[in-house]
Amino acid sequence: MKQSYFPDVGIWLKGNIHSHSTVSDGMFTPAELSELYRSHGYDFLSITDHNILDSHSDLQTNGLILLTGVEHDIAYGPDKCTHIVGLSPAGKKETSYICKQYSAEEITEQQLADYMLADGQFVNLAHPLWSCMEFAEIERLNGLHSIEVFNNGMEHLCHGGNSEIFWEMLLRHGKRIFATAVDDVHVSGDLFGGWVCVKVANRSQEDILAALVDGAFYASSGPTIYDFGIDRGSVYISCSPCRAIHFVSYPSKGKSFFSESDLPLVSSSHTLEGREAYVRAVCVDDKGYSAWTNPIFFDNRQ
Ligand SMILES: [Zn+2]
Ligand SMILES: [Zn+2]
Repeated sequence: MKQSYFPDVGIWLKGNIHSHSTVSDGMFTPAELSELYRSHGYDFLSITDHNILDSHSDLQTNGLILLTGVEHDIAYGPDKCTHIVGLSPAGKKETSYICKQYSAEEITEQQLADYMLADGQFVNLAHPLWSCMEFAEIERLNGLHSIEVFNNGMEHLCHGGNSEIFWEMLLRHGKRIFATAVDDVHVSGDLFGGWVCVKVANRSQEDILAALVDGAFYASSGPTIYDFGIDRGSVYISCSPCRAIHFVSYPSKGKSFFSESDLPLVSSSHTLEGREAYVRAVCVDDKGYSAWTNPIFFDNRQ
């Protein structure tokens, strides 16, 4: 029987959950930023200024849904840091903890993540590659909902945006954590390069946040994913035209498929061995942009 990873009914909404305005170190005002995303076809946006939570409720009127958000940072030196993005439940105007820039002497990363989780936030580890995090430091963090596998701003800045290998290692080590792609826009070159698509029943802040927490979304820097799931022992996917579809699993190896004779791939499937702890898919288009599903987890972990 065909079982989709995504809810059977619902609408797809596209959004960027990590961005900066002139309220912190971005070049666009909140109004400019929301208009840029609205006019580019986005359904939702979170303006996650550094250590400042703001609902921007005055901008909710133009058709774009604004999710209340913040990016917290702990600095350890000129280069090393930890940044964590949090998206607050609808209607929240302030945090249950003191929302400010904390020093490494005041707080650990886990304490900060725990504050954010206790506050009801969707908690997303930002750009660990750019932050110079060691894998052991990432693995020590518990309770995170997601990790940025692609950060367009940091990719533009210094090729610091691709953290898929960190995510894969977390999954291999038994963590149940989702993957996001974001713009982390500060300047115009950061716009429209990384996003998430959620499948929701209603076009509301509540449904978007619930879909993020539940993992009912995929991350992308280009391709569109239409469906992903399991059908009689095989994993399947359908997507916009791509040159490669990779099924990634562990501990049994997955399988890659490539387009042949200029005929792009729009779907693929792969028979599972039955001993996978999880399987996920990555679709790559002809420009090299990717879309990442979240994993389907099985009860097979050794
Ligand atoms: Zn950051
Ligand atoms: Zn940021």
